[in-house]
Amino acid sequence: MFKKNIKKLDHNLFIRKVDDFEKVTPDLSLEEPVKNSFNDFAIFDKLKRNIKDHGYEVPTEIQDKTIPQILSGRDVIAMANTGTGKTAAFLIPLINKSFLDRNQRVLIVVPTRELAIQIRDEYQIFAKGTQLEAVAFVGGASIKRQTYALKHKPQFAIGTPGRLKDLVNRRELNLQLFQNVVLDEVDKMVDIGFIHDIKYLISLLSRNRQSLFFSATVNVKTREILQSFVRNAVTISAKQQEVINNIDQDVIRLSNGESKIDALHNLLIKPGFDKIIIFGRTKWGIQKLTNQLVERGFKALAIHGNKTQNQRQKALQMFKNNEIQMLLATDVASRGLDIDSVTHVINFDAPESYDDYIHRIGRTGRAGKKGKALTFVD
Ligand code: AMP
Repeated sequence: MFKKNIKKLDHNLFIRKVDDFEKVTPDLSLEEPVKNSFNDFAIFDKLKRNIKDHGYEVPTEIQDKTIPQILSGRDVIAMANTGTGKTAAFLIPLINKSFLDRNQRVLIVVPTRELAIQIRDEYQIFAKGTQLEAVAFVGGASIKRQTYALKHKPQFAIGTPGRLKDLVNRRELNLQLFQNVVLDEVDKMVDIGFIHDIKYLISLLSRNRQSLFFSATVNVKTREILQSFVRNAVTISAKQQEVINNIDQDVIRLSNGESKIDALHNLLIKPGFDKIIIFGRTKWGIQKLTNQLVERGFKALAIHGNKTQNQRQKALQMFKNNEIQMLLATDVASRGLDIDSVTHVINFDAPESYDDYIHRIGRTGRAGKKGKALTFVD
């Protein structure tokens, strides 16, 4: 029944995306095959080598279409989910620009701490040997250390709206200095409630700037931001179904008298359940479930809003390094997480919206690998 619903929603989503797509008049569709290789891009040699050393052979579709536009100086509206390679799509041309002109500064605004740190880590791979500096400005970390880091005028500032606003209000951060601004996962920032902060930050930006707007979907609210943000932008839309095609989706029903935790336990001991993300709706529920699983002998850690930044980073790192079998997360904490080879996503609590469902299951089936998504239904 639920599986049917998923398919139905899928279809509705597709229609909605097409509507959005039409309203923002896309200039480039990603239905065409990838045309460029990384060598074709007008970027400096060391950057090409860093990309190659990182193991990227061909650009993803969003990179193929977006990188030349950003290199040419255009504003860009890109409708792309995580998992499409969107991060490198904006990092590569912006690193190139800042390398050629060291006065360039780049501000990247993202919804969560984890995403900020993930982007900074990816940045460090591509910017290796350039002596360009990037700093993440996120809540939960020492603001003193961040204000100190600002004194060095890092070329790249990557931050969450709340912390950036704090730094602006303390007169530590001058947004006029940034000629390049990326808003990443705008739909999520709006969902979390950052719309006013973002509008405030935009109002303080220099008018003389290149603006890049990344969002999985564009609705009324994201469009409000978009209109005050970009000028004469080229619009690019990633194929929406790409992520889903690699994911085998199914539901879990409880048999008579079986408890949910027992059903989960029975799944987790099956072969192939090697690297699992389990989603729950509340911080409290996720923590309780984590404790229960640990008591049963599973190697599990949780990330949610009640954890310190350090605890969240440590849990992520251990999960990435395969030191724990499973990571339990709330929707917000998991936004944009990029972890290799997740075998299963389990929705212990059903997601609240279709968008959340897509974001959750998109943690698996990445970079061409197959993944499984299982959703508990009552
Ligand atoms: P993103 O959408 O930026 O979160 O990226 C999703 C995943 O795709 C990450 O694991 C990236 O490292 C990976 N990726 C991005 N671009 C490429 C590429 N050109 N070739 C191979 N993997 C890539």
